[in-house]
Parts: sequence; structure tokens; C-alpha cells
Amino acid sequence: SLPVIYAITPTYSRAVQKAELTRLANTFRQVPQFHWIVVEDSNSHTELVSRFLARSGLRYTHLNVFTPRRFKRTGMPRATEQRNLALGWLRGHLSFKDKGVVFFADDDNTYSLELFEEMRSTRRVSVWPVGLVGGRRYERPLVEKGKVVGWYTGWKADRPFAIDMAGFAVNLQVILSNPRALFKRRGAKPGMQESDFLKQITKVEDLEPKAKNCTQVLVWHTRTEKVNLGNEPKRQQDSVYIEV
Ligand code: UDP
Ligand code: MN
Repeated sequence: SLPVIYAITPTYSRAVQKAELTRLANTFRQVPQFHWIVVEDSNSHTELVSRFLARSGLRYTHLNVFTPRRFKRTGMPRATEQRNLALGWLRGHLSFKDKGVVFFADDDNTYSLELFEEMRSTRRVSVWPVGLVGGRRYERPLVEKGKVVGWYTGWKADRPFAIDMAGFAVNLQVILSNPRALFKRRGAKPGMQESDFLKQITKVEDLEPKAKNCTQVLVWHTRTEKVNLGNEPKRQQDSVYIEV
């Protein structure tokens, strides 16, 4: 049987949250053997996300952890605590008998169905290009004779793994056999989350290139425009409460 894809999605309450989750769920529902781990950046499960997941038709796990306010400054890595909580859940609930692939799926990106077909065969750690990231049309791992030998990127090219969160997947066995591998807060520099994590579990030469030796873009680092709520009424609210 197919290994299960465990997609870890940190998410936080904001005007566009339900729209983002809807777009994701519409994609994920079409992926076989899929388990969505949604980690809210909040002190408790919100009603919006609870209801949304219950009606999604997806297999899911709903977690929450609130990011301490001192970590919510600009330039600081986002969703560290949420991703680590999900890794802890995997380690606490799954064992070496379980076949799975772990992927970090931020709530605003755009995912093709082919991406999941590609990552499904991840033996240890696999990589592929990501579109619309790093100030370029795409970033990608450079591949020679089937091995990753460097990175095509225009941003912080000295990163050991010059790759976005959406550009790699990890076999569950690797997550379980490296129980201390986590995302770092301490000493974390912007853009180094991926490198700091990946260097705990793999080496560049061991990466498995996907998407035709990293020549296809199957995922896009899209970002949603901040909505204009400038005309929300201060008094004279609508007569009904509508969840958006
Ligand atoms: N996120 C979060 N709490 C925050 C900010 C972001 O949980 O305070 C989540 C967000 O929903 C997304 C991920 O962390 O799934 C990455 O955030 P974002 O997409 O804003 O980062 P960027 O696009 O700049 O990489
Ligand atoms: Mn994003």
C-alpha cells in the first residue's frame, strides 16, 4: 500500500484564513492516503478551524500551540513551535511499522497534485524546485548525475540548503530515527530554518531529486495579499454574524 503523506500546516487566525484552508483542502482531498496535521497558532482550538476540519472530509489531526509574543517580530522565523509540535505528535503516535512521508505545507502556498505523486517515493529526504520564491521565478536544487551538487538561488546563496520549506519531504523513518531533530528558535537566523533542520537529518549529497531531476515547478510559494477591511462598520454592524 502507498505510504501516507503527512502534511504539516501551521495556521493562524486572520481575515483570509478560511479561504486559504479551503483552497488547501480542495487540493488535499484529491490526494490518496493523505493525513493533514493542522497546527493552529493559538491558545486553543478555534471554532472556525474545528468546524472546518470536521466538514473537510479529510483525515486530520488538529493541534494548537501559541507562539510567544517575543517571537512574533518581523524578521523572525514563523511557525517554529507549530512545526515542532507536529513532529512531536508524529513521534508520539507513529512507529517504525508505519510507512509515511512528512511534508511542511504552509497555508498560503499552491500545491499541484503531481507534487504529492513525486514526494510519495521519498526514501530519506527528497527535494524539488519551488516557484515564486527568493526574489526569483523559482529556486531549485542543481543536479548532476542524479545528485544534488548546489543551488540555483538569488537569495542568501551561502545557505547550506538553499531551499524553501515547500521544497522538500522527509520519510517518516528519518523523522522517527532522529528524535531530536527540530526547528530551532535559539540562534535562528531568517531564512535558515530549512538549513538548520535539514542538516540535522541529512547531507546535501544524499538528497533525492524529484520533479525530473529538479527541472519542474510543482509547488508555488504564493502569498496572499493583505485584505482591505477599511470599510468595515464601526457601529451599525450587520444584523447577523457571518463566519468568513
Ligand atoms: N504562521 C503562523 N503564525 C504566524 C505567522 C505565520 O502560524 O504568526 C503560519 C502561516 O499560516 C503559514 C506559515 O506559518 O502556514 C508560514 O507563514 P507565512 O506564509 O506568513 O510565511 P512566508 O510566506 O513569509 O514564508
Ligand atoms: Mn507563505
